[in-house]
Amino acid sequence: MRGSPLESALAFHEDRFPGEVAELKRLVRIPSVSADGFPEVEVARSAEAVAELLRRRGFSRVEVLAHDGAHPYVLAEHVEDPALPTVLLYAHHDVQPPGEVRAWRSPPFEPVERDGRLFGRGAADDKAAVVVHAAAVEAWLRGAGGLPVNVKLLVEGEEETGSRHLAALLRRHGAELDASALVLADAGNVDVGLPCLTVSLRGLVAVEVEIRAFEQSLHSGAFGGPVPDPAMALSKMLASLVGEDGRIAVPGLEPSFPPLATARREALGALGIGAAEFGQLARLRPGVRVFGHGHPLELCWWQPALAVNAIQASSRRAARDVINGAAWAQVEVRIVPGQDAGEVRDALVAALRRAAPWGVEVELRTLELVKPWATDLAHPAFGAAFRALERGFGRRAAAIGCGGSIGFVEPFAAAFPDTPALLVGVEDPLSNPHSENESVDLGSVRRALRAEIHLLAELADAL
Ligand SMILES: [Zn+2]
Repeated sequence: MRGSPLESALAFHEDRFPGEVAELKRLVRIPSVSADGFPEVEVARSAEAVAELLRRRGFSRVEVLAHDGAHPYVLAEHVEDPALPTVLLYAHHDVQPPGEVRAWRSPPFEPVERDGRLFGRGAADDKAAVVVHAAAVEAWLRGAGGLPVNVKLLVEGEEETGSRHLAALLRRHGAELDASALVLADAGNVDVGLPCLTVSLRGLVAVEVEIRAFEQSLHSGAFGGPVPDPAMALSKMLASLVGEDGRIAVPGLEPSFPPLATARREALGALGIGAAEFGQLARLRPGVRVFGHGHPLELCWWQPALAVNAIQASSRRAARDVINGAAWAQVEVRIVPGQDAGEVRDALVAALRRAAPWGVEVELRTLELVKPWATDLAHPAFGAAFRALERGFGRRAAAIGCGGSIGFVEPFAAAFPDTPALLVGVEDPLSNPHSENESVDLGSVRRALRAEIHLLAELADAL
């Protein structure tokens, strides 16, 4: 092995890691918040900083794309040899707003190292991935004298605001971005140091329901008794959606997929997270139990789940002796591969209508329909990814699900339906992405970089 191009690429990065941390700090210092009301100029400055970093690291073509008013994307490539397979790498350089600035132990845009972690907004989500992609490509270019594959890199500027222009951009630049494999680096690992490949995402159906029984709220002394209470009607409707055991009880919304395959069950067992550990992660109050009708991660990743996100009739401040004229709630169902968002919405709406008592008026509105996503691990790119992760982290990699949705995955899946998508990342349960005191474990960044150097070699063989 000694002296092989792979060894040379790995050796190149070995002494340079402090430089990569400095690079990450430079990016974190730019408050590239893409949310409305934050200075757009900072997202543009961040795109320029990413472009400059990529040029310095040896990418041959680097371009900042301002597409139809979107926050700027950065597109870069290095063609080693047109005969080699091409890999498309993805990350995003925009970040979430800082949240409660006073809740941060150190200012969000002044990166600080503590206990082996780098704290700062965007350190984990997703600027570390930008640095990893750039450093892995440079390690091959300058350490081994060339890449084993051609690479393209897309660094998005609007991921945290829902990737609104991504589908159009992928349509317009599809030919330029065409690749044999996608490496989407914005996911996470279930434990520090445990490399994971995310292979499924839940989708989302959200509706709002409003109940009305009279023109305006009524004095509960003058009218209480003979007239129905809309808040109680809504409560009964919501309560009808789950059974005594907490499971969804909506007809037509039962899971329509086979029981957990042995391989998945074994993979869950190996993660070392049972009901007690999951209860700790959720910080359950004493006496509250995790539901027992499945492994908690199975329920989170591979089963649908229903939640009442908000409920309102009056408010604590305005509470008085009335029967409220109207009651409102927002209800969501996290859906899994095998379920259709439109069908789930129809079943949910029908169940709520059926459960409405006493002739109350029911108004329903769809708020969100997001498809679930799952990948088929048969493609050889997945074997390549598992081997690369294991070599980079020194630990066997796990295939995991994700209970949430990642907005950019669906546009990629639609634009490149037959291209394997490898979802990797450096977040861990301590990372607090989107919340205060976001951080990334620097050991994980280093291991992710080693894994990506391996991955480019593995993909060269597998594609
Ligand atoms: Zn992200």
